[in-house]
Amino acid sequence: MEQNTEKQTYDVIVIGGGAAGLMAAGTAAQNGHRVLLLEKMEKSGRKVRITGKGRCNVTNARPAGEFASQVRTNASFFAPAFAAFDNRATIRFFERRGVKLEIERGDRVFPKSGKAWDIANALLEYCVDNGVKIMYDTRVTGILTLGRRVFGVKYINKRGFERKEEAPRVILATGGVSYPATGSTGDGYAFAADLGHTIEPLRPSLTPLVTSHPQARYLHKLLLRNIRATLWIDNEAVREEFGELGFSERGIEGAVALRMSRDAVDALIDGRRVKLVVDLKPALTEEVLRDRISRERAEMAPTEFFGELLRKLVPQPLVLPLAHEIDVHGKTYQSKITDEQITRLIRTLKGLTFPITDYAPFEYAVTTAGGVRCDEVNPETMESLKVPGLYLAGEVLDLDANTGGYNLQIAFSTGRLAGQLKKR
Ligand SMILES: Cc1cc2nc3c(=O)[nH]c(=O)nc-3n(C[C@H](O)[C@H](O)[C@H](O)COP(=O)(O)OP(=O)(O)OC[C@H]3O[C@@H](n4cnc5c(N)ncnc54)[C@H](O)[C@@H]3O)c2cc1C
Repeated sequence: MEQNTEKQTYDVIVIGGGAAGLMAAGTAAQNGHRVLLLEKMEKSGRKVRITGKGRCNVTNARPAGEFASQVRTNASFFAPAFAAFDNRATIRFFERRGVKLEIERGDRVFPKSGKAWDIANALLEYCVDNGVKIMYDTRVTGILTLGRRVFGVKYINKRGFERKEEAPRVILATGGVSYPATGSTGDGYAFAADLGHTIEPLRPSLTPLVTSHPQARYLHKLLLRNIRATLWIDNEAVREEFGELGFSERGIEGAVALRMSRDAVDALIDGRRVKLVVDLKPALTEEVLRDRISRERAEMAPTEFFGELLRKLVPQPLVLPLAHEIDVHGKTYQSKITDEQITRLIRTLKGLTFPITDYAPFEYAVTTAGGVRCDEVNPETMESLKVPGLYLAGEVLDLDANTGGYNLQIAFSTGRLAGQLKKR
């Protein structure tokens, strides 16, 4: 039964002013609904503002089929939301709001200005222009239901007082638990669980991988470009990626490692053995590499050190770890290096192995894997199948994708659909 909405100020309350919540709130308001958006931080879109290293990889321009293959969980659940508001629609949405976009390598779409703020501000303006009432520093503490139906939310206001606001529909867009300093602390999972939803176990995804490699500490700040890496789980090669690999005090990162982290984290949780094998010279076969090394050595004086030969082949920070790996001191004369040692060097250049023993926590993860089970939500409307009047959008759902602009598109597509407030 519908609530009596006459006394209610709002038709819909949106919890969370991130990518999904702003899109949902603006859409609902544009469709003529009275919308209240509650955001617990002092401003909206804090996470959006740091995306893409401050540049915001807002979506990916790949065709639908290829796009879907980058969605790691529940891609078929996501399909109707994407069909209703796809990557082209996202590009049109921002360009109409004056944000010029450009497509970069890997079909990744960024604002031409190079500023993630432009995306966050465009979303905010969309809400404001359509009359969304926004309350900041306002933390929702629970969703109110009567029988099984939603009728509002309770929250702690700016001054620290508990208040409630009624509305027949609530859109839950509280995000995941990664980078909690941005406001995403997982509150939505507790609200959904309280209302009978199942939460798939949460794991950090797109997160740095921690290696026990004894030389890894020498590699901090090293960025390797154009490498090929293979992820091994137990004795099986499960994933191969080409691109960038970075090293920091948090672990092994860069697009390649982050993309592999989804499988690596699951395997580590299951207690399986994980390693990352890096081909530092993917464009060269072992034979071509052997010829190249012979040529380099022929041009060197016999008394030059092995370390100097390595320096001609790899970036400086890798010299010591490589020498250590093949068990040859860097100060050995290059003329004394045996054929067997050169063979070991070639094998190592083609397969430097990093045992992976752990992963960086949610604080450093780009997204959260797991969340509200998608088969408890109607993919055509984003309305809960358990709680009429409750809609869900964004990372709070058990939806996550690779790096490349796919995760924001998930937030935009599901936020857009939830904001349509279609009935079951
Ligand atoms: C460092 C970093 C870089 C990233 N870069 C990219 C990128 O370039 N491209 C890409 O596609 N994806 C990127 N992502 C992922 C992307 O940012 C997220 O997938 C996306 O922001 C999820 O949107 P959301 O609206 O579901 O959640 P969020 O953006 O996390 O928003 C949730 C909002 O809810 C609010 N909230 C939470 N609890 C409450 C409560 N109880 N009451 C009121 N408000 C509440 C939070 O304060 C927050 O504002 C990146 C993520 C990180 C951490």
